[in-house]
Amino acid sequence: MGSANGLVSAQGKQPLLSFGIISDVQYADIPDGRSFIGVPRYYRHSILVLQRAVQKWNNHQKLKFVINFGDIVDGFCPKDQSLNAVKKVVNEFQIFNGPAYHMIGNHCLYNLPRDKLLPLLKIPSVDGHAYYDFSPIPEYRFVVLDGYDISAIGWPQDHPKTMQALKFLREKNPNSDKNSPAGLVGLERRFLLFNGAVGKEQLEWLHGVLEDATKENQKVVVCCHLPLDPGASSEEALLWNYDEVMDVIHRYNCVKVCLAGHDHKGGQSIDSHGVHHRVLEAALECPPGTDSFGYIDVFDDRLSVFGTDRMKSTDMIFTL
Ligand SMILES: [Zn+2]
Repeated sequence: MGSANGLVSAQGKQPLLSFGIISDVQYADIPDGRSFIGVPRYYRHSILVLQRAVQKWNNHQKLKFVINFGDIVDGFCPKDQSLNAVKKVVNEFQIFNGPAYHMIGNHCLYNLPRDKLLPLLKIPSVDGHAYYDFSPIPEYRFVVLDGYDISAIGWPQDHPKTMQALKFLREKNPNSDKNSPAGLVGLERRFLLFNGAVGKEQLEWLHGVLEDATKENQKVVVCCHLPLDPGASSEEALLWNYDEVMDVIHRYNCVKVCLAGHDHKGGQSIDSHGVHHRVLEAALECPPGTDSFGYIDVFDDRLSVFGTDRMKSTDMIFTL
């Protein structure tokens, strides 16, 4: 967690708020493996990373909540163990002395359909959607997007959203394996089965939330499992319609930071409108004994990330 205790920043100011962060735990009770590009994955160790995170978060005392950026259980988890594996990881989050806000990732959806997953993650939901917002202090609002709103995974196979996603993939990705970016160039490489999009209704909801936050003079932190800026992420990990979402965000001045997971190596950028983007380094890829989690101190003009081991510590300073 770094040496700072989170009570006082480098500028000597007290944070308005502090919260814990972790992403891509991807736990499974299976032997270690590798990603498709050969990066080692430590499936059993990752829950130990989460356990150490919860212990540190509880010792910190000032953390108001934690945010899990998705993919709590890996797609290789044997399907007859999926329910128990999800419950096991959720139980670890429940040891934290405060609320845990979850978002869904593709690996969560490989294991359980939405109607089973969302109640376990206590995600407030209408019609199976997984987007919501909350305001832990009057100065800030957090928006959690559902990056698999339009997706070929998680909805029933005959659901209109599954159909819409499959049609979209057929148009954008000519490969028979829709998880393959072969032949796709540059930003087109995001049109893969393991990604998804924010649908029209959710975009309208986002408009409404940002309009309201602007009226309330609140700063906004947007959280999504899938990254929203090419400068902070591999092309293959981006939300299909990251550009449409950012067009909405850029119409307002209230969004200061976008946080994401999914692209395990992590990344960061500042976009053309001065919005900070930070992709969090995955817990799954920590070699045994090392960690990737942290906490964020929130100030009126910055968010400061205090990371452990693989998770980089950074300051995101913005104009008011
Ligand atoms: Zn993911």
